[in-house]
Amino acid sequence: MSKALVPGLPVFFYHPQDAWVYGEISGVGAKSLIVMSVDNGEEIEHSVKEGQIHPLTTGNTLELLDDMLKLPELHESTLLHNIRGRYAQNQVYTYVGPIVIAVNPFKRLPLYGEDIIHQYRKRGLENDLPPHIFAIADASYDSLLKNNASQSVLISGESGAGKTETTKYLMKYLGEVAGVKRLTEGNIQNRIMQANPILEAFGNAKTLRNNNSSRFGKFIKIQFDQSGFLTGAQITNYLLERSRVSKQAIGERNYHVFYQLLSGASAELREQLRLQAADSFHYLRQSGERTEGNFVEQEGTYDLGDNDEDESKNFRDLLEAFSIVGLESAEVRSILRVVAGILHLGNVNFLLDETKTWHTATVSNRPILSLAADLFGVDTKKMEFNLVNRRNMIKGEYFVVALDMQQSCDNRDSEEYVGLSKALYGATFNWLVDRINQSLESEDPQLFIGLLDIFGFEAFKFCINFANEKLQQHYNRHTFKWEQEACLAEEIDYTKIDFVDNQVCLDLIEKKPLGIISLLDEESNFPKATNQTLLQKLITNHTTHSYFEKPKLSQSAFVVKHYAGGVSYEVAGFLEKNKDSLADDLVDLIQTSNVPFIANLLSRGGKKESKKKTTVGSEFRNQLDDLMKLINSTEPHWIRCIKPNAAKKPDVLTGPEVLSQLNCAGVLETIRIRRSGYPIRIPVDVFYKRFRIVFPKIKVSDGKSVRSAVAAILEELSLDSKDCQLGLTKVFLRSEQYTKLEVMRSEK
Ligand code: ATP
Ligand code: MG
Repeated sequence: MSKALVPGLPVFFYHPQDAWVYGEISGVGAKSLIVMSVDNGEEIEHSVKEGQIHPLTTGNTLELLDDMLKLPELHESTLLHNIRGRYAQNQVYTYVGPIVIAVNPFKRLPLYGEDIIHQYRKRGLENDLPPHIFAIADASYDSLLKNNASQSVLISGESGAGKTETTKYLMKYLGEVAGVKRLTEGNIQNRIMQANPILEAFGNAKTLRNNNSSRFGKFIKIQFDQSGFLTGAQITNYLLERSRVSKQAIGERNYHVFYQLLSGASAELREQLRLQAADSFHYLRQSGERTEGNFVEQEGTYDLGDNDEDESKNFRDLLEAFSIVGLESAEVRSILRVVAGILHLGNVNFLLDETKTWHTATVSNRPILSLAADLFGVDTKKMEFNLVNRRNMIKGEYFVVALDMQQSCDNRDSEEYVGLSKALYGATFNWLVDRINQSLESEDPQLFIGLLDIFGFEAFKFCINFANEKLQQHYNRHTFKWEQEACLAEEIDYTKIDFVDNQVCLDLIEKKPLGIISLLDEESNFPKATNQTLLQKLITNHTTHSYFEKPKLSQSAFVVKHYAGGVSYEVAGFLEKNKDSLADDLVDLIQTSNVPFIANLLSRGGKKESKKKTTVGSEFRNQLDDLMKLINSTEPHWIRCIKPNAAKKPDVLTGPEVLSQLNCAGVLETIRIRRSGYPIRIPVDVFYKRFRIVFPKIKVSDGKSVRSAVAAILEELSLDSKDCQLGLTKVFLRSEQYTKLEVMRSEK
C-alpha cells in the first residue's frame, strides 16, 4: 500500500453501482483498504483495492462548482461528484470551461421563459448567473456580432440525452433576442420554429430509449445580416433511418406522421386515402406498439401523446406548420398521398406463380396493390410488373428477368435493401427539407449560427461513429488550444504538453484509396463481392494498423479502436446497407406518375444520370467533409448532453452510465489532454500553507511574496520543468510529483 494512503484520508472510491463515491479511509490492510462512506446519515464500510481509490487533492473541497475547470484536479471522480451534486439540486447545467454539460432533467424546470432569456442577454459566458445553454447562445450571438464571424454550436449525446430539446431552446433564444429588420419578415422566427414539428413528424419516432427519438442528424444554420437581424435559416439533414418505415423493433413505433394521419384525417381525407385503423397496416402492426395507451405518462415531460386525441392534435399542428412554412395545399395533399400509399404498399403480398415453371413471384392481393398504385398515380399493371420483374441491360439490349419471392420483397421493402416504400419515404423527407429551406431562404445570408443536432442512434453504426470520431478531432484541437491559452495566461511554457491527435484513426476510416470506406465502396461496385470478401480485404490491408484489430472470437467482424474505446463491427449487411439505389425500373415507374410531385420525387439531384451509383458510405463521407469544412469556418461552441438514467426518470442519476457518456462526449478526453500537461493546479497560497512544513526553513518574510517562497520550495525539490512549473498564481504539477509531495508531508 502506498504510504500516502493513511486512515483519515478523504478519498473518492469506485463503487460498482454508483461509480465514484466520497468516503474516508478508516483502515489499511495488506491488500485492501476499508473506506467509510455516509449514506442518508448512516456510515457504511466498503473494502476496496488501491487502484479503486482516488485521494482528494489539496484544495479540492466537496463544494459544488459552476465550472469544473476550476477544480484543482480534473478527474473522473471530481467531475462525477460535481455533476451528481448539482443534478440533485436541479442544476442541470455545468461548465467545463466554455463547454456546457447538460444533464436531462426529465421534468419541466422553470429555466426557459422569456424572463430567463432576457437575464442571459448580453451577459456572455463570464457572468454570475448559473450555467445555462442560453449563455452559450448569447456568447455565440455576441461573437457573431463582435467578430463578424459565423458560429456553430455542436450538440452531442446519446439517444434521449436531450439534444433536440436543447436545439429548440437555442432556436427560441436566438429568435427572441435577434429581432427582424423589416415587418415583412415579421414571421420568420415563427416559420423557423415551425420547421420543427414537420421534421419531427417525419423524422422522429418512439424508440425504447426515447419517445421522441430523431432518426436523422441535422445542422440548422440560423442566418443573420451584419447588424445581427434574423434573416432566415437553412437545414442540412443526414442519414435518415429509412428501415424504420417497414420494420420496427418490439416496443418501438414507426414515424409519428403515420399515426398522426390515421388519427387526425378528416372523413373526406380518410375516404380519399382509403385509410383504415392503424393495426390493419402491416407497417404499423409488427412491433406491438399501436396508437393507444403505450406511453407511461411522466409528469412534466413533453412526451408526445400516444392516444388518438393527442395524435389528432399533433396532426392539426402539423397541417398548421405546413401552412405557416408556406406549403401549398396541393403539395400537402401529394405528401399525404405518398404517406398513405406507403402504408398500402406495405400490405401488398406475393405468392409463387403456379403458372410458371420457375420460382417466380406474383402479387397475391391485387386490390391492395391497386390502392397503392392509385395513390402513387401510376398504372396498377405496370406497378405489379415492375415489382416482380427486372429489366437487365446486356450489351445494349434489355432482357426481362422474372423475380422470385425474396427479390420481389426486396423491391417492396426488405430489411437490407432500399425498396420502393423506403425510397419514397426517404425522398419525401428530403423534399420536405428542401421545401422548408426554400421557404426560410435568406436574402442576406451573410452570417450564421449553426446548430448541430448529431445522431444519437445507431442505424449504420459505423457511419455514426465515424462522424463522432471526426467531431472529436475538432474538439481535441480546440481543447488543446485552450490548454495553451491557460498556460499563456499563467506565463508558463506550454511546449511541454504533448498533443495526441486521432488523425491516424480517421485515416484508417476515410483515407483514399485504402481506408475502410474506400474498400467498402470498391466491394460494393464489384458484382461478386460478399461481406466476407470485404472483411478479408480489410484484414489484408490493415492488419498491422494500430487502430485496427481482428477480434479473437468472431470470424465475421473487425474492430476499430475509436477514441471512446474499441468497437466491433459485424460485417453482415455492410454491403447491402452501403447500397443506396432502388431498382431502375421502379424509379422509372414512379416517374410515370400523373401526380407531378410524385413523378419528380425520385429523380432529384440528377443522381440517376451518373453511371457509378453513389453509396451510403461515400455519400456520408462527402457530407461529413462539407460539414467539417463549414464548422471549421466558424467559431465553435459545445453542449454535451447527458442522459442521467436509462429509465427516463427525473431525479435519478446512475454513476457508471453517466461516466461512460462523459467518456463518449470526450469530456474525459479533456482530462487526458490535461494530464499530458499538468493535471494539478494549486493556487500558490494553498500550496504554501500545505507544504511549508516539509521545508520549515523557507518562510514568507522580509517583504518576500508567497510566490517567491513557493519558488524556493520548488527549487529545493529540483524538479524538471516537464514535471512542474510555477505560474503567476498557481503551481502546475504532474500527478506523480504531487503524490511525492504528499508522501513527504505525511512523513513529517
Ligand atoms: P435522440 O438522439 O433519440 O433524438 P435526443 O438527444 O434528441 O435523443 P430529446 O428528444 O431532445 O433527446 O429528449 C428526450 C426527452 O427528454 C424529451 O422528449 C423530453 O421529455 C426530455 N427532455 C430533454 N431535454 C429536456 C429539458 N431541458 N427539460 C425537460 N425535459 C427534457
Ligand atoms: Mg433528437
